[in-house]
Amino acid sequence: MTGASNPEAVWKRPALAEPNHVEMGGVLGDAFSRGLKRIGIDPPYTVQYLLADLNFDMQRFGANFSGDVSGRFLELASLTSSPQNPAPPTLPEVMSKIPMLQQLDGHFGAAIDWQEPIDFDSPLLEAKMMPTMWGNGRILLGLVACHARFGDPDLLDSALKLGDFYVNVAADRFCDPNCLAEYQKSPGYAGAYVTCVFHGIAGLVQLYNATDDARYLDVAQRMADFHSAFDTLPVEHAHGSISAHEALLMLYEATGDPRYLKRVTDRWTRAVTGGYVTLAGGVLEKFVVAGFNRDEGCAESDWLRVNLMLWRELGDTRYLDMAERLLWNEYLANQWPDGGYGHRLISTDAQGAYAYGRLDEEAVWCCCFHGPLGLRALKSYLAVGGAREIYLNFPTDFTAPVTVGRDSFTVASKTLPADENIPVKTEVTLAGAGQAPLMVRIPDWADEVIIQSGAKRIPALPVNGYLRTPPVASGDKLEIAYHARPHLETRLGQRIPIPAGLPADLKDVVIRQGPEIFLNAGSGDIQNVTLNVKGQTEIEIPKEASAKMAPWLKLQDHHVPHAFVFNVRLEGAAAASER
Ligand SMILES: [Zn+2]
Repeated sequence: MTGASNPEAVWKRPALAEPNHVEMGGVLGDAFSRGLKRIGIDPPYTVQYLLADLNFDMQRFGANFSGDVSGRFLELASLTSSPQNPAPPTLPEVMSKIPMLQQLDGHFGAAIDWQEPIDFDSPLLEAKMMPTMWGNGRILLGLVACHARFGDPDLLDSALKLGDFYVNVAADRFCDPNCLAEYQKSPGYAGAYVTCVFHGIAGLVQLYNATDDARYLDVAQRMADFHSAFDTLPVEHAHGSISAHEALLMLYEATGDPRYLKRVTDRWTRAVTGGYVTLAGGVLEKFVVAGFNRDEGCAESDWLRVNLMLWRELGDTRYLDMAERLLWNEYLANQWPDGGYGHRLISTDAQGAYAYGRLDEEAVWCCCFHGPLGLRALKSYLAVGGAREIYLNFPTDFTAPVTVGRDSFTVASKTLPADENIPVKTEVTLAGAGQAPLMVRIPDWADEVIIQSGAKRIPALPVNGYLRTPPVASGDKLEIAYHARPHLETRLGQRIPIPAGLPADLKDVVIRQGPEIFLNAGSGDIQNVTLNVKGQTEIEIPKEASAKMAPWLKLQDHHVPHAFVFNVRLEGAAAASER
């Protein structure tokens, strides 16, 4: 998990395709479309429910987080709609009503005297100031996305008023060096000062990008700089923390100031090497190693997006390795049968997470929006056009437009049935004028990647975590086989070589083949398992073991606990056959 590949000496941030122009199929495409469908389904998603955090016309959980549900809905629904066809059917009414629900100072939610002391003493669901700041950060993103999609001047006007609220009121009130003692009195978790104030930077950068008004960028930088003193790990809210880091990456793109990028890469290294990231590729609801027992779909979505954005900035495939580990394990396990996202119980010990527990709570007020939002971002990263080549980042099912120089192509990738020790195989075709080399990512789990055209092996050169092919022309059909035998990893995701002397006992390890990790089918406890080693080099997962351990997609029952850490005894073939 920490094995780095060197970023290219000169990496140029590539342009991404509009996600709506990418077709994503297979397991991930299915997860996305089920998630998107969920936000159009009542219960709970009526217009009354969606707007209740702005007009308080309905008693519902978290309505004091004003702009949270309404803003998330506005963002996801707008981004996934076409300009001619706003969807789901509740979107037009929500769009038309939101601008009428704004306070005179530009914020959404209850009338608040912002100069009063922060109401940290109120219970989470009754407090006003911090929850309102949280929700307003979310609705600013929604307003900017909605205006970009539909061009409605009322929504732009609303976004500008809210941006002005940050410029004129919020930044002064919540980034004031004279108020440090007050901020430090904040409790942790979802209503915390650090959680609720700083993810708002993202909407301000987007508003600057949409308007070129430097005041929004200035205030975003001021907030980001003030945030650094509070931006720590561990922290009690991973969603708030990681979404603020997405904002730092947006700020880095807008300003070119490397300090913002460094804060994110330093945090990534600390989180991954410190055990804050689980072997399933995700994080807990609190950004801690242990002592807390559930995840949150929103935090997984943010973690996915930060990894994708870091690849875009740096070209380092370790971030794609992390995104892939997350997608094929934790992200799948967090989705509910109805397509929504939320909280699954997670078992931890002192070293961190070791098992999925039961589904705990579908978070219809946040994760149901943020889960599909992350998968939507993924669509742009499946295949990406670089300066001279096409990056094939994820071996899965999709059709994506890419641009290389002046040439436009459509890349189609289809998964083929797996073979023994080839867990992933794809067929890739290119359509369009001209030709371009392919950069085929070498995943961290792969032993070897073999590219063929018919029976002929295509020579390919390893370059910075990719295999570079000779130029590929329109109509060429390539078969890409990702060879990978099962392997073991430590609880920090480092590969464990097969010990020279067998039998050998390895405590607390993960069994992985391809992008997926193995789960104990019948237990949420760390249990003992014996595996044979063929020819001193190849760990075998015996066929009869499939009932006892399997990757997430092959498990019979997703509703009971499953451990993903094992104590493994490796036996040589001779020793095993003597039993
Ligand atoms: Zn959530």
